[in-house]
Amino acid sequence: TKVLVSGANGYIAMWVVRTLLEKGFTVRGAVRSAEKGKRLREYFQPYGDKVEWVVVEDITKDGAYDEAVKDVDAIEHMASPVTPPTGDPDDYIKPAVHGTVGILKSAHKFGNRVKRIVVTSSVAAIQGHMIKGSTVTFDESHWGDEAVEIVKVEGAKAPEMTKYRASKTLAERAAWDFHKQYQTKIQWDLVALNPPFVFGPSLQELKVPADLNLSMDVAYQNLCIDQPDDVLQSTHNYISVQDIAIAHVAALSNKAAGGQRIIISEGATTWQETRNLAASLRPDLYASGVLPRGNPNLPKDLQFIYNNEKGKKIFGFKYKTLEEILIELLADFEERGWLA
Ligand code: NDP
Repeated sequence: TKVLVSGANGYIAMWVVRTLLEKGFTVRGAVRSAEKGKRLREYFQPYGDKVEWVVVEDITKDGAYDEAVKDVDAIEHMASPVTPPTGDPDDYIKPAVHGTVGILKSAHKFGNRVKRIVVTSSVAAIQGHMIKGSTVTFDESHWGDEAVEIVKVEGAKAPEMTKYRASKTLAERAAWDFHKQYQTKIQWDLVALNPPFVFGPSLQELKVPADLNLSMDVAYQNLCIDQPDDVLQSTHNYISVQDIAIAHVAALSNKAAGGQRIIISEGATTWQETRNLAASLRPDLYASGVLPRGNPNLPKDLQFIYNNEKGKKIFGFKYKTLEEILIELLADFEERGWLA
């Protein structure tokens, strides 16, 4: 079985490619430039001709994926802007939406063998209105329309994460709309996976913490650098990078996943609680003052939780706990010499 992975050099995508190869799939990874594929060629060299790399320069161009989708049995669409250089919301929205619709269009025209397409969406396409002072639970019936509205009104002035949420919401909606419109003419179905923050060791070549992808940068900032109480009290929901990769592979063949959007989340906590847990797991790093302890007695009130029942029911495997995630994540930072 041959699988096209777009955005193959990304943090999560490298784990998806690795998991696919470990499970015996053949992979075609798409990246934006030959240079971006360099690390991939080195890292996955032991897999020989089980993996190949193609360049898709501009995913906003019509037909960008026309060649890449030929002769593959399934697609994992992961390319989407997470950190753009300017304040224009279109820098997120255009590549997110056109990239997603574009790869579906290409699959419709040229993907004769494609049976399933997995779109890496996000809880960003789910998160709705927050209510101060109470815990809101979101599930797959919710959509990030609030972010879309804010971006419509505020444009470039909207907060970066709101622009990101709008881009993921519009991209996932566009995917479902496309599928609905063409369902009588296509032989593949669609799965959207909606992870919250993804944490765990990176397979990317990173020199300094600033090279981390967004979610791991958030982890680094909130674990390794002093933060004000409001940041420490803020909520995050999490899943390990290995588990979101396993879910991507399982989503290629799991019958019940077809036609579904699925939250893949292990749980919710606050950053201070995360520090408290890290301090109990690695007292050495805190005794030596390498990691900041924060304010251990801050309230633990959660602002939002993503209900993970559907994903657990469909895929039925146990996710790594926050303890396991933290042990691996801190070991990764340590090995890179970032906790000196
Ligand atoms: P990365 O930033 O590591 O990966 C993003 C990938 O998308 C890279 O391959 C990047 O290519 C590509 N990309 C970004 N912008 C463009 C563009 N304009 N045109 C073509 N390719 C582009 O992030 P992650 O691995 O974290 O994210 C992968 C996917 O998972 C994304 O769709 C993201 O929204 C989603 N996601 C991530 C979560 C997380 O916590 N990490 C949580 C929920 C969803 P290049 O290197 O060339 O820029």
